[in-house]
Amino acid sequence: MIVVEHCAVSTVDGAGTEYADGHVVMEGDRIVAVGPGRYEGRADGAVRVDGTGCLATPGLVNTHHHLYQWATRGYAQQEILFGWLTELYPVWARIDAGIVHAAATAGLAQLALSGCTTSTDHQYVFPRDGGDILAAEIDAAASVGLRFHPCRGSMDLSVKDGGLPPDSVVEDTDAALAATKEAIDRFHDPSPGAMVRIAVAPCSPFSVTPRLMREAADLARAEGVRLHTHLAETVEEEKYCREIHRCTPVEYAESLGWLGPDVWLAHAVHLDSGAIGKLGATGTGVAHCPSSNGRLGAGIAPVRDLLDARVPVGLGVDGAASQEAGQLGAELRQALYLARLRGGPAALTARESLALGTIGGARCLGRDDELGSLEPGKLADLALWRLDGLGHAGIDDPVAALVFGPPAPLRLLLVGGRAVVQDGALSTMDEPAVAASLAKAARTLREGR
Ligand SMILES: [Zn+2]
Repeated sequence: MIVVEHCAVSTVDGAGTEYADGHVVMEGDRIVAVGPGRYEGRADGAVRVDGTGCLATPGLVNTHHHLYQWATRGYAQQEILFGWLTELYPVWARIDAGIVHAAATAGLAQLALSGCTTSTDHQYVFPRDGGDILAAEIDAAASVGLRFHPCRGSMDLSVKDGGLPPDSVVEDTDAALAATKEAIDRFHDPSPGAMVRIAVAPCSPFSVTPRLMREAADLARAEGVRLHTHLAETVEEEKYCREIHRCTPVEYAESLGWLGPDVWLAHAVHLDSGAIGKLGATGTGVAHCPSSNGRLGAGIAPVRDLLDARVPVGLGVDGAASQEAGQLGAELRQALYLARLRGGPAALTARESLALGTIGGARCLGRDDELGSLEPGKLADLALWRLDGLGHAGIDDPVAALVFGPPAPLRLLLVGGRAVVQDGALSTMDEPAVAASLAKAARTLREGR
């Protein structure tokens, strides 16, 4: 049992319950009590954590990432998406399980240090001689200690067939589907409290055939797993869809059976009101990636309109090749800024931003029954942020301090009741060693083999 007390608590439950001074009690991997003041219940032998000066929130949920890209940061610094991809595809063609393990460990460690307790990943490059890449990143997540939803991605539409990627990074359609089914059979855990769940995730309209999109959706629904892809990220993608498919990206997704409550889409930046209505009516989720959209100059997603249309919206850091910082906590502020640049200062509140990063993400991953808020019965995934230092001291509203202020250091990060970060440092990994292996992996890729 762990008792966290003397801290502010933002539960992010349906009623927006907060305590200026409260407690959260966890037993095993579950939350058993949340309330005001000191915990007065029985707590024999419990570990008591003094949260004075801190804010407890649900652990953040990252809804979009490409962890392997941690080994390819700093490339194509002034490119739009298509130019950036074209420069990076040949580099990515050289990844293997060892490089992905180093990159995923670094990326997940950075996520943990920024308050993230559950992350997805979208792995869509599987070179023929690359080894067991999916197993490598699942092993990395277990070492760091995060809850993990890797998406088995795929690409089967190369330049010779009218797509963007070169032949060297695409798979045969049937082979991709078979490998996706195998990933579900090997790794997907549907049980409550699962640490690993698989999703099915063909990459994007300009790198995947309609057949792979359709059959991937059929596979996911037959297996009871979720669907993820990139959609409506840039104006160039919209132009591509109109030219090739004679419709918008969202209409294209709809025609393939790719809208529904079991689907979440990365980006969704370029949407007309009809598209927003379709996402809302079908319960299709959106992974909003504000920093990546900024880095590539892709545009500003209509988050306010999506929320008003009851679309589940979560936050994603996106791959570190298009968002070198990779900190999920920082995306709370980025999301607020972008929404306000688009819609003015009332477009998104600090609490709405925190909800995007917690319960909104849990809804995208289909786990809002277990994650995304601090409530008895939910999983013991908690971030305890220090707000008494130079960056935040004196801001009376702790949620405003967290969202408006600089990235807050963590007093404690718990995943299923297990400490992953304590007093700003990883408890599970040696940070300098993780950084050294990442640098080695990046050098190997940069210099070729
Ligand atoms: Zn992405």
